[in-house]
Amino acid sequence: MDQRIRHLRNYEPKPSRYEAARLRLLDLAPELRQAPLYLITAPPDYPRGCYGAFHMRRPDAAIREALILSGQWEGPGNIIVLGRDFQGEELTGILAHEGAHCLPFCPFDFDDRAPTKAEAEREAEAVAAWASSPPVSGPPWEHSHGLQFVRRVLHLHYRAERSGVSVPLPTLHCAGPHYGLSGLWKYKRALGNEPERFMGATFGEIEATAVPSDFQLLFDSDLAAWNKTEAKRQTL
Ligand SMILES: [Zn+2]
Repeated sequence: MDQRIRHLRNYEPKPSRYEAARLRLLDLAPELRQAPLYLITAPPDYPRGCYGAFHMRRPDAAIREALILSGQWEGPGNIIVLGRDFQGEELTGILAHEGAHCLPFCPFDFDDRAPTKAEAEREAEAVAAWASSPPVSGPPWEHSHGLQFVRRVLHLHYRAERSGVSVPLPTLHCAGPHYGLSGLWKYKRALGNEPERFMGATFGEIEATAVPSDFQLLFDSDLAAWNKTEAKRQTL
């Protein structure tokens, strides 16, 4: 047994209580069943502290190894990695956030092969660099947290609440000042009854439909306000 496997021996990639949360996400967005959906905690020697959770479509060597060693690996699929322990409403909220990154469903058409040692080392270096790099500049919503993302989160939120699961808006970590946008409650109001009308739709079908005009207007006004503030900041 090499050192890394010994290190992983006491690592529980997927605490059993997470399984109900994973299955709930599949119920909220059934199209995700077209490929495996993994929910794991970051391996012990993986960077932590710089994220709460993240989504990846192609596992790096460390995550792939953790999934294989724990007997979960079933081939390419959406992977949600938690950087710390989440429970209750907080877990439901973080899964809705990361679930929105998994949508709309896109097929996984890449090869499932073990990385070479050199590739694994390069990936580990890239992960370490990512974890220690300063936040990227530019509009904070631009990196996968924009208009369609907020819309997807709100649809998942509506479906969860309709199924009797309470998901307080702050647990979704979506929109609001952190992302340079208005509060999520404003987006919820602007989306109107769209989530109810699209209950049985796939997220691909939802995104093929124009967003409600109030929703678009709110986003456009947030963009304009952010650009104005940014222009002012740069002249100081
Ligand atoms: Zn995110």
